Amino acid sequence: MLTHFIGGEPVGAGKTFPVHDPVTGAVIRQVHEADPEVVDRAVRAAREAARDWAALPVGERAGWMRRLAEGIESRFDDLVDAEIADTGQPIDQTRTLDIPRGIANFRAFAEIAAQRPDDAFHLSGVLSYTVRRPLGVVAVIVPWNLPFLLMTWKLAPALVAGNTVVVKPSEHTPGSAAVFAEICAEAGLPAGVVNIIFGYGSSGHLLVEHPGVDAVTFTGSTRTGTAIMNTVADRVKPISFELGGKNAGLVFEDCRLDRAVEGTAKSVFTNGGQVCLCTERVYVQRPIFEEFCARLAARAQEFEPQPMISMEHREKVLSYYALARSEGAKVLAGGGVPAFGDNRDCGYFVEPTVVAGLSEWSRFNREEIFGPVCHVAPFDSEAEAVDLANSSEYGLASTVWTGNLDRAHRVAQRLEAGLVWVNTWYLRDLRTPFGGMKLSGIGREGGVQSLDFYSQPTTITIRLEQPDA
Ligand code: NAD
Repeated sequence: MLTHFIGGEPVGAGKTFPVHDPVTGAVIRQVHEADPEVVDRAVRAAREAARDWAALPVGERAGWMRRLAEGIESRFDDLVDAEIADTGQPIDQTRTLDIPRGIANFRAFAEIAAQRPDDAFHLSGVLSYTVRRPLGVVAVIVPWNLPFLLMTWKLAPALVAGNTVVVKPSEHTPGSAAVFAEICAEAGLPAGVVNIIFGYGSSGHLLVEHPGVDAVTFTGSTRTGTAIMNTVADRVKPISFELGGKNAGLVFEDCRLDRAVEGTAKSVFTNGGQVCLCTERVYVQRPIFEEFCARLAARAQEFEPQPMISMEHREKVLSYYALARSEGAKVLAGGGVPAFGDNRDCGYFVEPTVVAGLSEWSRFNREEIFGPVCHVAPFDSEAEAVDLANSSEYGLASTVWTGNLDRAHRVAQRLEAGLVWVNTWYLRDLRTPFGGMKLSGIGREGGVQSLDFYSQPTTITIRLEQPDA
């Protein structure tokens, strides 16, 4: 039974809910669900801890971040087990991406915060400078697709900037957050600095609307982001939103085809397509279109199917496979459910899928699916490719595959996306801004942008008297 972590203590109260193994569909744990009383208790614990935590010199908070990184290292295997149990991810991915990125998040933000100077501005006889102070209590609401990576990506900068937090992980993936609560306790982190509560969106709603919460940082769907925005509008709470995507990949005829096929396949099928950065629209220059499609379809068939997070999400992805057919698509690979002949047949798998032949205005090409699937379409000119990529209401990430340096820069700078990768995908430098345009989000996190969100400046201006002549 997983309990909340409030004021440094495990708190188990109220109703419980089940978590399922996506690989087999079996119930693997029961978890306490946060009701109004639990949410209130967590926010109060965070408020009580806020003043002392904010008063620590940043160097000391950075030291705590490094200790938490060490704690994650020492509980590495437990975190891997918890993450795999909840998500059904392949173990290699969890060991090389999710959990190591948690460690890197704490180390990176410790360095960035400790080294950040304040600003100073000089005019004749006037000195202005800024001091940054924390926001107070930050609600951290995160999704299920890369649970530990995404939670720590927000936690580390929020904490090092001097805030205390109440975290609500996804109802599907509470496991790694529960281990992290133990890590905080084992490290001796002051009580109330990190509080973790479990529950569905209803618990998240109670948290963001609580008057004791000063700001909300959220990663998840655009629909939930809109709901949160409405909830916090009355109190003008600062928000940082990392939302959905409908990402485009542009493949030019001058690319290295083998790399473009492999890179596109990874960008479509990794984690069963359940990464906000995954490509769902692929545009290929006409002379190489047929060959690219054939090779991508062959690659799709080689990809090991991954489970979707839940039966409900699997039904959603399959409904888009059906929609593609009803909109008149040609299915080049996949399009169904794999048969394993073992207990995975009770799990939430779908086949890696490639479709073609739909218009830009089809629902399939406009809505985020969040599964291992893409649509491929040909283009003729560079200008047309950019227009097609930009025709989406989303603007999170794009990939460009080309051997032409001028084109790479030209196209990358015209794409309406917060992130553009050239001849690669999902290569991250944690100091760079991360986030999306249009329906894909508000604000940027990463490097000093994270610290800017999780703190607010006061400008202090002093008039310097000149000595009498
Ligand atoms: P979701 O929006 O359904 O849920 C995200 C979190 O919000 C969960 O913890 C959920 O319980 C909570 N929640 C739901 N309703 C709420 C409400 N009214 N108030 C407060 N909290 C509420 O998203 P999901 O299905 O868990 O995740 C998949 C989505 O996340 C996809 O759209 C994906 O693109 C997006 N995502 C974006 C990024 C990014 O960096 N831009 C990264 C990962 C995932």
